[in-house]
Amino acid sequence: MTPHLRHLLVALVVAACTATPVHALQLPKEQRTPGGVALLELPARSGDDAPVATYDGLRTAVVRNGDKWLAVVGIPLSASVGAHTVHVEVDGVMRELQFHVRDKRYRTQHLTIRNQRQVDPNPDDLRRIRAEQARSEAALSRFTAEAAPVLRLLPPVQGPRSDSYGSRRYFNGQPRNPHTGMDIAAPKGTPIRAPAPGVVVETGDFFFNGATVFIDHGHGLVTMYCHLDRIDVKPGDRLQSGDLIGAVGATGRVTGPHLHWGVSLNRAMVDPALLLGDAE
Ligand SMILES: [Zn+2]
Repeated sequence: MTPHLRHLLVALVVAACTATPVHALQLPKEQRTPGGVALLELPARSGDDAPVATYDGLRTAVVRNGDKWLAVVGIPLSASVGAHTVHVEVDGVMRELQFHVRDKRYRTQHLTIRNQRQVDPNPDDLRRIRAEQARSEAALSRFTAEAAPVLRLLPPVQGPRSDSYGSRRYFNGQPRNPHTGMDIAAPKGTPIRAPAPGVVVETGDFFFNGATVFIDHGHGLVTMYCHLDRIDVKPGDRLQSGDLIGAVGATGRVTGPHLHWGVSLNRAMVDPALLLGDAE
């Protein structure tokens, strides 16, 4: 290698290293499958305001990435394989962006629950469950546009994580809804901490989910914490990353103490692992 060529290479390497943006954007890992996340570059537009993008009629998170805007789209576990559409307004004109959702095979799980009523609820239980579903739905469907979007999360509890997100589930031999969160095993009483800044929007003692907390992080990102032994927050509390939420327990429909962690993006319960990133 000539000294000139060596000098040129060094210059190129230095240029490559210093070209990283000052404020690196923390994005979820992209996975265009049911239960995954799509990152879609939005068409160029005039003005500095964030564009409004919708998927299935619900607003999605939109973040600036350099001089471009990206829609960060949660894909429901029930999404069909094939073409999906995001709508975005560009300078007064509604545009359609298509993306392709590919198949992902999730496992089947068989679980044994001691309390048969948690598998076959009675009519009173069903009334209670319906009322709780409405509260849960209201919390998970929130879209708060204020504050900068947070799209990377810290683990709320240290402990072994199941990769059972998406599993088709049988309780005592009967098919039930698939698993739309991550289970983190930890002893009863282990502290649970906020994975990002946010506001507590709902808490309660739910039939299936036990003692539960919902946190709104803004831009359609809402996280839920289930089966708690103890809740240490109340609706309206503003949290920073690492603030105490409560303690791991075994309340509701469980086989043992663990945290069930749900992550909702534009009302789609996505695989929480996609928002944890690699550097943990
Ligand atoms: Zn779970």
